[in-house]
Amino acid sequence: MIVDKDSAFPNSMSLPSHASFVVYAKSKEDVAEAVALAKREQLPILAMGDGTNLLPSTLTKAVVLILDNRGIKEEDNILTVQAGEKWDDVVKFAVERGLSGIEALSSIPGKAGAAPIQNIGAYGAEIGDTIEYVEVYDKEKEKFVLLDKEDCEFGYRDSLFKKNKSRFIVVAITLKLSKEPPKIPDYKDVKKYFKDRANTSPSLQEIREAIIEIRKNKLPDPSVVPNCGSFFKNPFVTLEKAKALQTEFPTLSVFPSGERVKIPAGFLIEQAGFKGQKIGNVEIYKNNALVITNPHGATFADIIEAKDTIQQSVLSKFGILLEPEVNIIE
Ligand code: NAP
Repeated sequence: MIVDKDSAFPNSMSLPSHASFVVYAKSKEDVAEAVALAKREQLPILAMGDGTNLLPSTLTKAVVLILDNRGIKEEDNILTVQAGEKWDDVVKFAVERGLSGIEALSSIPGKAGAAPIQNIGAYGAEIGDTIEYVEVYDKEKEKFVLLDKEDCEFGYRDSLFKKNKSRFIVVAITLKLSKEPPKIPDYKDVKKYFKDRANTSPSLQEIREAIIEIRKNKLPDPSVVPNCGSFFKNPFVTLEKAKALQTEFPTLSVFPSGERVKIPAGFLIEQAGFKGQKIGNVEIYKNNALVITNPHGATFADIIEAKDTIQQSVLSKFGILLEPEVNIIE
C-alpha cells in the first residue's frame, strides 16, 4: 500500500486538489488498512477510481483512497472484476469473449469500482442490469460484505452507494453477461450509424466500435480538454409539464419512463444559450452542452459559479432545477 501525506490526487477536471492523505490500495487488505488510518486520524475517507466524475475543492480534509486492485475472471458468462480495473478494459474483455450486456457502455471513462456508484448508463444500458453482486467494505459493520442486485437499489444514475456515500467502499463487482446475439441500441445516433452502413445485425465488436466512434464526437478527451463528462443528470418531469414544454419548444425530444418523462438536460442548456460559450473561466463544450470543460485552468470556485449560472438560467427559463451528476466534494 502506498500512502502519501498532503498530496495531490488525480481528477479529470484538472483541479489542483490536495488531500490530507492519498492511499493507493492494491488489495482488500489495503482498503481495510486505509479505513483504519482514517479512523486513527479522525478523517473521513473518500474512495475513488480515476476521478473522472469528481469535482474536488482545493483542500480535501480526508483520506483519499484510490482503488488500484486488479483482476478480471470469467466463468460461465459471469465476470468478477476488481474495483481498480479500468471500466473500458472490462467491456473490451467481455466483447472479446463474445459476452453481451455491457457493449453499449464502451468508452465510459473511470474504473470498474466506480461504475455501480452512479449506475453508469449509456444508450439504454445500465450496469445495474447486469450486476449479480457488489463486494464492499461496509464501514458501519466494519467488514467486507457481498450485496446482491436488490440490495444495491439501482435507479437512474443512482444507487445505495450514492445515497450512503460515506458507508460503502466498492472493492469488486460481479456481472452476469450473456451469449445472446446483441441488439442495436435504440438510440438515434447508433441506429443512424448502422443504417448508413446497411448493417442490420452487427456483431458485439461492431457495436462497441460504433459507440466508441459516436462518443468521440460528443465528448472531449479529458487528457486533452479537462472535463468530467455529463455534468448534470437528465431531469424527469410530469406528463403535463412535458406537454407544456413541447408546445413551447417543438424540437424538444421527450422520453416517457413510467409515470414520468425524461427531458434531455443538454437541450435545456443549449436553449438557455450556453452551448460553446464561456462562463467566466470555463467553457461549455461546443458539441455537447451537457459537458463543462476546463481548458484554461479554472478553479473549483469558477466551476461552481458556472454550475450555478446554468442552473439558475435553466430554472428561470424552463422551471426545472438541474441536478449535478458529478460528485462535488466541498
Ligand atoms: P442524445 O442522443 O443526444 O440524447 C439526449 C438524451 O436523451 C440522452 O441523455 C438520453 O438519456 C435521452 N435519450 C435519447 N434517446 C433516447 C431513447 N431512445 N430512449 C431513452 N432516452 C433517450 O444523447 P447523447 O448526449 O449523445 O448521449 C448518448 C448516451 O450516452 C446517453 O445514454 C448518455 O447518457 C450517454 N452518455 C453518458 C455520459 C456520461 O458522462 N455519463 C456522457 C455522454 C453520453 P440517457 O442519458 O438517460 O440515456
